[in-house]
Amino acid sequence: MRVLVKTLMLEGLKVIEVDVEIAVVRSAIPVHNIVGLASKEVKESFERIRAAFESAGLKLPAGKITVNLSPADIVKRDTGFDLAIAVGLMIALGSVRREIIKDGFVVGEIGLDGEVKAPRGLVLFAKYALLQGKTLICRPIGLLELFKGLNIQPVYSINSLMDKTKVIEMPGSILEVSEKNNFNIDYVLLNEEEKLLVKLLAAWDVNALFIGPPGRGKSFIANLIAWLKAPLTYEKYLEVIGIYEYAGERRVSREVPVRSPHFTLSYSAMFGGGDGMQPGEVSLAHNGVLIMDEFPEFPRRIVEGLRQPLVEGKVLVSRASKKVEFPAKFQLLATMNPCPCGEFGYGFCSCSFREVRGYLNRVSRAVLDRIPVVYNVEGRGRKVVKVSDFKNEVEELAKIEVPASMEILKRKLNLKDLQFLYELFEKRGISLRKAVQYFRVIYMLRVLRTEDELIKSLFLEHFDYVDRLRLMMRKKGGKRIALLE
Ligand SMILES: [Zn+2]
Repeated sequence: MRVLVKTLMLEGLKVIEVDVEIAVVRSAIPVHNIVGLASKEVKESFERIRAAFESAGLKLPAGKITVNLSPADIVKRDTGFDLAIAVGLMIALGSVRREIIKDGFVVGEIGLDGEVKAPRGLVLFAKYALLQGKTLICRPIGLLELFKGLNIQPVYSINSLMDKTKVIEMPGSILEVSEKNNFNIDYVLLNEEEKLLVKLLAAWDVNALFIGPPGRGKSFIANLIAWLKAPLTYEKYLEVIGIYEYAGERRVSREVPVRSPHFTLSYSAMFGGGDGMQPGEVSLAHNGVLIMDEFPEFPRRIVEGLRQPLVEGKVLVSRASKKVEFPAKFQLLATMNPCPCGEFGYGFCSCSFREVRGYLNRVSRAVLDRIPVVYNVEGRGRKVVKVSDFKNEVEELAKIEVPASMEILKRKLNLKDLQFLYELFEKRGISLRKAVQYFRVIYMLRVLRTEDELIKSLFLEHFDYVDRLRLMMRKKGGKRIALLE
């Protein structure tokens, strides 16, 4: 007898369909075999199933049982195949109707007592099943209620499989719990430029670096921007809770995720991996904001490692000999001092040239190329601003789509702005990658009805400020100091 059960597995955070084919052949000697690149824990599932069956008063089918997992070229790990194999065996035994697996994916682990458990990544499976219009046969968890229209066939134990169960349609209710950001403020001190940038960066996902001496509010501005961001769309929200559930963290808030890793964290904590294939900070910040305070203090490897997610919106993590993909599309908001003492270019700097150069060079040009907004936080001319009023404005602005293509942007910008940018590119030798971002930023500034003077001052006095500090150092040193790269 042959039974085919469909199940799901994860490679990184990517959902893959797996066929579990079970063949039972008459044989005097009972033999069990799992083929199709099954890992040790998958091979052991027979032992868990045997014990679970016993507790439910069942016995494994007599004869030779072969379980084939396909596609055959992917290593099957984890214990999430238990339920699919058990259901297949129960169909072979005639104790479960075959209809139960029609148009459905069976996912779950089984305890020795016969209890069915939700597998890691169940929320990601739910999203996949919903998109495919298939039923999910699993032990339900509360988060699945968020998936409007998803069909669930609940299974709690081996025994409950034998009862007649109904398919339930999920209501898509938004859980009203909101983990309140502990950053709730009404009034802050900001100057005109800061006000403008706060709105721009809160409305659109543009990467930014705030540079300046300690105590001028760099980190505060970064957190303020994150706080002002519009809530996640339903689609992005489901993605985020899927990642968090996989990481073993419960998250129900519609606010964008904000991560602020400390510079002492490890490479795998930042980018993901390790024994448990945990998503790193860059993936936990997916669809949200990654705040990196004291940017040059992060190990060089970590700063350079940001290049891939900043361009591609994903990160590749090594697993055994293979690379798996984790989503990592975030807005980077970094802060830094201009030198180790924090005063270079502002006040009395007690560092040597060597120290200043080393410090500034820790943020390479390749990384700066992906950060269009560099703002020199001096904190001059600040006035009291009611920022809680920004929330609605930001939410409206966020709905305005900013073109990503250079061609479209060129058509949309006025001649004066184009002329201004081209002159700037020529003067500073700006890369094409950065040029596109500048086109987008100037477009956003126009959406915000920014005056010409302010636009000029931002582009000429602020953006590329790290390069200007390097230049300043070169002049002060009275000799040429080789720039990095
Ligand atoms: Zn200094």
